[in-house]
Amino acid sequence: MSKRLSSWCGRHLSYGGRITLINSVLASLPLYFFSFFKAPVCVLKQLVRIQRNFLWGGGLEDKKLCWVKWEQICMPRDQGGLGVKNLELFNLALLSKWKWRCVNESDAVWTDVLRFRYGHLPSKFLNEELYSCGAKDSIWWRDLVNVGDSFLPGWFKSNVSCIVGNGKNINFWKNKWFGNNSFSELFPTLFSKDACSEAMIADRLNNSTDEITWSWDWRVPLSLQEEQELFSLKELLRGFSLKPDCCDKWRWMSESDGLFTVKSCYKMLLQDDNCDAISAESLVAIRKLWKNDLPSKVGVFGWRLLLEKLPTRVALAHRGIILSGGDLKCVLCSSMLEDLSHLFFNCIHVSNIWKKIYAWLGLPYNNQGIGHIHFMQFGAAVKAQKGMKFRHLIWLATTWCIWRMRNNIIFRGEGADFQRLFDHIRNISWYWFSGRVGRLDKSTFFDWCNNPLKCLSSF
Ligand SMILES: [Zn+2]
Repeated sequence: MSKRLSSWCGRHLSYGGRITLINSVLASLPLYFFSFFKAPVCVLKQLVRIQRNFLWGGGLEDKKLCWVKWEQICMPRDQGGLGVKNLELFNLALLSKWKWRCVNESDAVWTDVLRFRYGHLPSKFLNEELYSCGAKDSIWWRDLVNVGDSFLPGWFKSNVSCIVGNGKNINFWKNKWFGNNSFSELFPTLFSKDACSEAMIADRLNNSTDEITWSWDWRVPLSLQEEQELFSLKELLRGFSLKPDCCDKWRWMSESDGLFTVKSCYKMLLQDDNCDAISAESLVAIRKLWKNDLPSKVGVFGWRLLLEKLPTRVALAHRGIILSGGDLKCVLCSSMLEDLSHLFFNCIHVSNIWKKIYAWLGLPYNNQGIGHIHFMQFGAAVKAQKGMKFRHLIWLATTWCIWRMRNNIIFRGEGADFQRLFDHIRNISWYWFSGRVGRLDKSTFFDWCNNPLKCLSSF
C-alpha cells in the first residue's frame, strides 16, 4: 500500500483529493485478503497508520499530528465524519458475509464440507448458547465463529431472526424462534433434562394433523413441577404450526428484504462504534455544510472549522506544541490570543471584514463568535433570500481566505492587507460558484459583485 501511495505525492493533493485516494486505492488494495481472512491487529494498525498519515500530512513515513480521532473520520459525513473506510469494521463485515453464507447456503458443496467437519452450521453461529471452538479447528473457522465478538459480543446473532418453515433447521431449545427468548432460557430445567440438547423444532413437534403432536426424549423422568412447566410450554405453543412445504429461513434484520449485505452490516457496525464526541448543534451545522455543492477541500476545511479542529496558535499550545517565540497572539491584531473564535469572528479586523461581507450581501450584520452558530445564522439569513445549493459558499470563502491570509503572514512573512482580503473573498467565491454551475448560469462577475444573492438564488 505504501508503494502505491508514494507514487502519489500527497503533499500536492488537497484534503478532498486525499480522501478520495484513501478510499479508492487504500481500501481496495487489501480487499481480496480482507474478504476471506481476519486481518491481524498489527497489520490493521499499520494500514490505519498509513491512511492517517496520508490524510493529515500527505507523507507516509513521518508521524503526523492528527486533529480528529480516526474513528470519527471513519463515520459517514452525516454523522460528522469524512466517510473514510474503517478497515477493521469493513473486514468484519466482509467476514460476516461468510458467516451468513454458512447459515443460508445449506445446499452448497462447500457447506457440506464444513458441516462434516463442524456439525450443524446455523447452530454454531446463531444459538444463544456460546459455542467455543476446539483447539484443532482451523484458524479461518475460529475467526469466522468469533467474528467481531470481541468488539461487540453476540452482535451477529442478535441481527438475525428466523422464519420457521418445516422446523428442520432451527434448534428447538437454543434459537429464538418463538418470541424474544429461546426455550432454553425460558425453561432451563426442562432443557437440562432433554436427552438431545441439539434437537430441531421438527424433532419435538409435528403438526401433520390439525393437532400438534409432541415427541420428547427425556434423560430422566420429569418431576411434578417439571410436568407443570411442560404444560406451560405446550400452552405457549398452542395454535403454532409448522409449514412442511417451506424450508426454515433466516432474516438479516438490517435489510428490509431480509438478505445480508456487506454494506448494511458495515453500517451497523459503524453505528455501534460511534464515538459521539460531537455536540448535536455542531452536527446539525456539519450536515448543512455537506449540502453545499463545493470543492471537497473547502468542505474538509469547513468541517474542521465547525469541529474546532484547526491548528490555531492556542490549539497548538493545548497540544503541547511549542511555537517559535512562544507567541500565542493573533497575527492580525497582535493583542488577543489566537483561538478559533477570535481569529475567524471576534478579531477587530475580521469583524470589519464580516461587516463588509454582510453589506455586500445586503443582509443585516450579525456576528456570533461561535463557529457553528455563526455558520447557521449566516445560512438562515441567506436562505431567506433564496440561495440554495450554495447557501454557505460565501461564509466558507470568507473563513477560507482569512485562514489563508493568516498562514501567509505566519509562514511567508506577508503583510496583512484587508482590502485585498475582501477582494480575494469576492473573487474566490465567484470562482467556486461559476466553476460549479458552469454554463448553466448567465451571470457575470459584475453581477456577482453587485448582487451575489441574486446569482445564488437561481440554483
Ligand atoms: Zn486579532
